[in-house]
Amino acid sequence: MISAVLPTYNRAPIAFVKGEGSWLMAEDGSRYLDLGSGIAVNALGHANPALVQALTDQAQKLWHVSNVYTIPEQQKLAEMLVDRTFADTVFFTNSGTEAAELAIKMARKYWSDKGQPDRIQIIAFEGAFHGRSTGAIAAAGSEKMVKGFGPLMPGFTHLKWPTCTADHDAIRAAITDKTAAVMIEPIQGEGGIRPVPDQCLKGLRDLCDQTGALLIFDEVQCGMGRSGKLFAHEWSGISPDIMMVAKGIGGGFPLGAVLATETAASGMVAGTHGSTYGGNPLGCAIGAKVTEIVSDPAFLDAVSAKSAQFRQGLEGLVASHPTVFDSVRGQGLMLGLKCKVPNTDVVKAGYAQHILTVAAADNVLRLLPALNIPEADIAEALRRLDAAATALEQAA
Ligand code: PLP
Repeated sequence: MISAVLPTYNRAPIAFVKGEGSWLMAEDGSRYLDLGSGIAVNALGHANPALVQALTDQAQKLWHVSNVYTIPEQQKLAEMLVDRTFADTVFFTNSGTEAAELAIKMARKYWSDKGQPDRIQIIAFEGAFHGRSTGAIAAAGSEKMVKGFGPLMPGFTHLKWPTCTADHDAIRAAITDKTAAVMIEPIQGEGGIRPVPDQCLKGLRDLCDQTGALLIFDEVQCGMGRSGKLFAHEWSGISPDIMMVAKGIGGGFPLGAVLATETAASGMVAGTHGSTYGGNPLGCAIGAKVTEIVSDPAFLDAVSAKSAQFRQGLEGLVASHPTVFDSVRGQGLMLGLKCKVPNTDVVKAGYAQHILTVAAADNVLRLLPALNIPEADIAEALRRLDAAATALEQAA
């Protein structure tokens, strides 16, 4: 008999009842060190006191009102994001997928309003993940995600990885007079923690400037401080025209956003888009607190310092377990361990050591701890990963 919950996930048989900082408590009372953070969501750890306060303060006043009214909390968060980024304007969603949908609509509407309604093509990259709506799976184009769900939304061109990092002539050739936008994650998450080099992001910006195509960055996973900058593209010194954000911005509350320049957003006038929940007072009050904390330069410097500590330890693990691990990759606290054994075996071995990690494509183990993880917890994580690798070696 089918389970009461639609069985679309391969779930581990562990259920958690409580969280505190980087730790999760299971039903049997045992504690797990969480290096997954709900897949880069709990940016400030579990039950962060400042976020609990922001949530409860707002919950006692007003949870939800419709977007047919003015929402001061939404206005405040939008202004905070505009002040801290390239963007002139923000639309709030509940998820990354919805942000992807709007980014696609915005790019197409921009060209439609410029009198080129057939300029709809969006160039995306192999290994990308933009969500699970029909539009977002068409955008990413992975065989695994699209199979059985056709017909797919037309209008996407997929370039092979690492074309975006290695072959700008191929990208230039792919951009035609039908290209509305180029869409890319500055650090691929699901694709296996694959950073796009700064030079390449700069090159993409140049190509978009030369051709008029809009540049869309998907920072759903790599944004909100995860890379050590508020947004990962900041390392490259260039900025996109449109950017998708979600996950970390709500710290665990479902919240996403599309940030855009005034020009890129010019087609999105009243009536062209909307959301019942997106940007409600509760979500935005929490988002404002997360944004205030993670955009503090001292907080971001601490992310980079923690990253250096973690990375050094991970390099040590690669050296001491050469049959289990291949190499370390990533940026900030978005780190990956390329594995030599199946990455899912390492995730399972981690469960036995009470440490939570996440598998990604390219046989990579994803490590996405809370951005404020204490140094002692990083040291403990390294000990537990070491024990997991030793157990795998002994079982081989
Ligand atoms: N874009 C990226 C880069 C993601 O990593 C994800 C989720 O993993 C999404 C979009 C989709 O976000 P959501 O699951 O909130 O819809």
